[in-house]
Amino acid sequence: MADFDINTIISKKDRMLIKPFNLRPGYDMKYVIQYLNLYAGNMDFNKIFNNERLFDNLSIIKQNETILQWSLRVRVPLQDLLNNKKYSFYHRYCLFLSYGKGKFNNFDYYRARIHKSHMAICFSCWKLIKIDDIQPKKTYHYGWQKYVEIIEAKDLMVNHWNNKCDKPMTDFGKARIIQIAWKNYKNRPESLATRVWNALKTDDYPNDKKFLGLTPYKADRANGSNGYGYIDYDGGRFFWHPNDYGLWAKYKKELLNFRLRHYVKELLQQHGYRIINGKPWYIMVKWIENPDHYLNKDYPDLIRI
Ligand SMILES: [Zn+2]
Repeated sequence: MADFDINTIISKKDRMLIKPFNLRPGYDMKYVIQYLNLYAGNMDFNKIFNNERLFDNLSIIKQNETILQWSLRVRVPLQDLLNNKKYSFYHRYCLFLSYGKGKFNNFDYYRARIHKSHMAICFSCWKLIKIDDIQPKKTYHYGWQKYVEIIEAKDLMVNHWNNKCDKPMTDFGKARIIQIAWKNYKNRPESLATRVWNALKTDDYPNDKKFLGLTPYKADRANGSNGYGYIDYDGGRFFWHPNDYGLWAKYKKELLNFRLRHYVKELLQQHGYRIINGKPWYIMVKWIENPDHYLNKDYPDLIRI
């Protein structure tokens, strides 16, 4: 049931279906009933009318209410309806805004009138959207073996799904979302941390002392004689045994930290500051953005030189 769409089908010669007085699929309930009798067989019509009424009641804007106020008022109860698997043939993919009063007498079911703004709330992204009128498409109808004019419920939404919807129901719309996400990703400003990290690749720390690309085993072979690997940094030489992976990893990490820190210090110095109270590099990197902010403290972390 939930996947059943009412299509507006207009055939000039064949009178299997009445011509709906409005072309929006599912709007004309007399047409809906005929359509369901033709295509869906036995149905619980009381339930159908009840559901239509629930959605229609929400669709009606109150006097003195703006369209935005209407959308805010009905959004939560509307979500409740959908969560409870309630379903309208007219409000199929969005809640259309209407005004005035409907007339509900069982099979004489007349909806409130379509609001002239043509606004609606999209069930996918919950945005307030405008639904433009569309012309029926000439399509070959296999069941009837002839060409008919047709509007499907989806047709009214496609323009929104393809261009503005955050959760589009078309592949085209989904491709657009991915494209936008990618563009944003590419255009994002490079973070300071990333810049520092990238700068390390080109810093002037001697290659033979970096050891960053070497495994303990290779380091051992590179140093040959005594069987110990080592790293030089901060004026010291640190040894480890090739079997001691833990120590090697620790030194490697420390060396990296040292170089990152060194680079951040240099950056600050280039801007005319000297660190007097050092912190880990990932904290100091934030100082670069606004060093003066850190000067005006009782115990400043850096001074101007
Ligand atoms: Zn949407």
